[in-house]
Amino acid sequence: MSIHEECGVFGVYAPRPVNAAQFCYYGLYALQHRGQESCGIVVNDDGLFFSQKDLGLVGDVFPPARIAAFPAGTMAVAHTRYGTTGKNDRNNCQPIEVNHQKGRMALAHNGNLSNAAVLRSALELSGAIFHTTTDTETIAYIITKERLKAPSIEEAVSRAMDTLDGAYSLIVMSPQKLICARDPYGFRPLCYGVTPDGIYVVASESCALRAVGAEPVRDVLPGEILIFSKNGMVSNTGHCGKKEKRLCVFEYIYFARPDSVIDGVSVQAARVRAGEILAQEYPVEADLVTGVPDSGLDAALGYSRASGIPYGIGLIKNKYIGRTFISPENRMDQVKIKLSAVSGAVAGKRVVLIDDSIVRGTTLKGIVSLIREAGAKEIHVRVAAPPFMHPCYYGTDIDSEAHLIACRHPVNEIAALLGMDSLGYFPVARLSELTGGGNYCDACFSGRYATAIPDDPRKDRFEQRLSEIGK
Ligand code: AMP
Repeated sequence: MSIHEECGVFGVYAPRPVNAAQFCYYGLYALQHRGQESCGIVVNDDGLFFSQKDLGLVGDVFPPARIAAFPAGTMAVAHTRYGTTGKNDRNNCQPIEVNHQKGRMALAHNGNLSNAAVLRSALELSGAIFHTTTDTETIAYIITKERLKAPSIEEAVSRAMDTLDGAYSLIVMSPQKLICARDPYGFRPLCYGVTPDGIYVVASESCALRAVGAEPVRDVLPGEILIFSKNGMVSNTGHCGKKEKRLCVFEYIYFARPDSVIDGVSVQAARVRAGEILAQEYPVEADLVTGVPDSGLDAALGYSRASGIPYGIGLIKNKYIGRTFISPENRMDQVKIKLSAVSGAVAGKRVVLIDDSIVRGTTLKGIVSLIREAGAKEIHVRVAAPPFMHPCYYGTDIDSEAHLIACRHPVNEIAALLGMDSLGYFPVARLSELTGGGNYCDACFSGRYATAIPDDPRKDRFEQRLSEIGK
C-alpha cells in the first residue's frame, strides 16, 4: 500500500541534441512510485532552459502534446515529488530554476537537509529572499553563492557540500554541464547509466535507467560528484569517506521498486530475504502465505519458501485508482476501494499475511478485517519492517510519534487492536542482512541518528502564520 512517498530525480546528458524531454518522461514514469504530488522537466537547448512543471501525476502533467512542445536538447533534469518539507503547492514543484550572476541553473533534489532551518535563516539574515518553502531552494542558494567565488559550477557544488548536512541526492544542470551529487552518508540512492549510443542518464533508481534503454553503470558513491560535459564524465571523490555510509534501509523495505538495484543489492532480493528471516523468527502453523500488494509480495514469497507453507494471492489491488480519485475520508473505506480479499484463496484457512510496514495501523486493520470477512480461520501478520518508533529527518515521511502505533502499544496490544491472531515485526538487529552487509540508516526504528537532530523538524517549518511573522 502506498500513502506517502518521497522524491525521484532524473537527468540526461547527450553528446548531441536529442529528444531529452521524452527521456525524462519515461524516466519519471518509472520513478512515479517515489512521489505523486508534482513533477517537472527542464530541457537545456544550447544554454536556453525550457521548463514545464505542475501538480499531478506524470501522465496527467505531461500529455503527448506537452512533451512534443519541448525543443531538442543536450541535457535535461526532471523530478517527481512527494514533498517531505513544504506544502503541496505549485511554487514547490521541482526542478527549481535560478538565474544568477554567472548564468542559470536548474536543480532537482531528493532527501531532507537536517540543517536546513539554520542555513535558511542565515541566508535570510543576509538578505536572501525565498520563493518556496522547500530545502531545495536553500541548496540552490548556497550553490549560487559559492559559484560567485568558485572557478566552476562543480567546484561550487563541492563547496556547498561542506555546508549541507543530511540527505541529498542532487542533479544540477548548468548551461554546459550536468552534475550529480550524493551526500557523504549516501542516505538516498542515486545511480547512472549509459545508452548504447552514448547518452548518459542519472536517476534515483536503476529501474528508470532501464526504462530509457540505458544500461546501469554503477551507483554514485556516497559523497561523490559526477560531472557530465563535453569532456565526458569526470568523478570528484573529495567528499567520499568523510562520513560513514547510511543508506536508508526503508528504501529496500518499501520505497524502491523491486526491479531496482541499490548500492549493488537487488531490492527484490532484499525483500525476499526479509520474508525468509520473518519465517525463521516467527514460525507458525498455517495453510497459506499471502502478501499485501505491492510491497509485501516479495517478502511473502520469501516467507513461503523458507517455511514451506504454500504461497497464494489472497488480496487483489485495484490497478485503476489514481490520485484524481476522490478518496473517502475514512481510511478503512479507502482500503476497501483499493483492495479486496479473494475468498476462494483464504476461506477456512490459517493465513500468514505479510505487509511491508505498520505506521498508524489503520491500513492493516482494514486489510485484516477484509480477510476475516472473506472467511479466513486465523490471521498471523508478519511485517517486513521493525516497529516505527522515531521520526525521520532524511526524507522519509514518518508521522509524529503521537501517531505511530508502536510508540503507544506493545506488540501484543497492537495485534489485538488490529484484529490479528498473532503479529511479528522484523528484528532491528537483523536489518544488516537486507543490505548485503552495507552500512545503513535505521534511525526511524532505532533512534540512532547519523546527524544532529534539527531544532525544528516540522514538515511545514517554512510555512508561517501571521502570528509567527516579525513586524
Ligand atoms: P498505516 O495505515 O499508517 O499503518 O499505513 C501503513 C502503510 O503505509 C504501509 O503498509 C506502507 O505501505 C505505507 N507506508 C509506510 N510508511 C510509509 C512512509 N514513510 N511513507 C509512506 N508510506 C508509507
